[in-house]
Amino acid sequence: MAELSVLVLEDDAELRALIARGLGEDGFTVAGAASAAEFLRLIAVRSADVLIVDIGLPDADGRDVVQAIRARNVKTPVIFLTARDAVPDRLAGFAAGGDDYLTKPFVFAELVARVRALARRVEVPARGDDAGLRLDPTDRSVALGSARLDLSPIEFRLLAALAAGQQKAIRRRELLAAAWPHGAIVHDNTLDVYIARLRRKLEQLPGAPLIVTVVGTGYALR
Ligand code: CA
Repeated sequence: MAELSVLVLEDDAELRALIARGLGEDGFTVAGAASAAEFLRLIAVRSADVLIVDIGLPDADGRDVVQAIRARNVKTPVIFLTARDAVPDRLAGFAAGGDDYLTKPFVFAELVARVRALARRVEVPARGDDAGLRLDPTDRSVALGSARLDLSPIEFRLLAALAAGQQKAIRRRELLAAAWPHGAIVHDNTLDVYIARLRRKLEQLPGAPLIVTVVGTGYALR
């Protein structure tokens, strides 16, 4: 079996070093990033079999970081790290999408087992697509060419989920799971209101794809 590579995004230097050392001893190739910005630079130039992403970061929410890379067609599986007392809200939706999460503090053997399990599921690690919309989770903006727009957290998450669909229709309930906390009560037309707002914003970005309504399913970015 080829050596597996792991990219770790964790701002706690001690924990990052511990994970890197431990996985290294287990035969993984490990690279670490201390901030979302550093991680996004790294992932643009190197591929990984599994990503380990802390949720609480100084410059972004780890979940938004992952949504942003999914929007660029990076399909690498993710293990989220989260504080024990944090409500796993949107993590439920992510876990359903094939990713995983571990609460801190965790037993190291558990992390290794999860990394191996996720790595086995990977068929083709994708490096991502540099064309198209660039979603930046550190300031929740979207850019195309030299133009950029600021988005609200919900708009950012909706757009990232739509972009990750690669032109396929995304179901309404998937959009709700991506953009709102798990268990939040969101009225049916609230989604449409946000989509309408996002549509108007995207119209200010020359050359941006359009959000189209897919009757009976949801929305797609085309
Ligand atoms: Ca942290």
